[in-house]
Amino acid sequence: MLPLDPHADRGRRAWVPCPSCADHRACDTCADGRTCSAHWRYLLSNTGSRLHLQCPSCTHVWEHETGFGATRSVSDQVIGGLRPE
Ligand SMILES: [Zn+2]
Ligand SMILES: [Zn+2]
Repeated sequence: MLPLDPHADRGRRAWVPCPSCADHRACDTCADGRTCSAHWRYLLSNTGSRLHLQCPSCTHVWEHETGFGATRSVSDQVIGGLRPE
């Protein structure tokens, strides 16, 4: 297991399925496409439409291409930043 990235911040989360552990599969909330409180990823950084993510469950790090271009409004669909716990 990798250590958590120093940029991992619970205040910057993204709801993207983890390609490593796929812990969202058995979850009804995730299946509905809602912002699940149990299955989310650290958003380490993002460059345009590409998100740099780390899974808090298995610490897998990967890049997720949203394919939506660099529009902020689309990013807001995936990224739940600035949301209080
Ligand atoms: Zn994972
Ligand atoms: Zn879930």
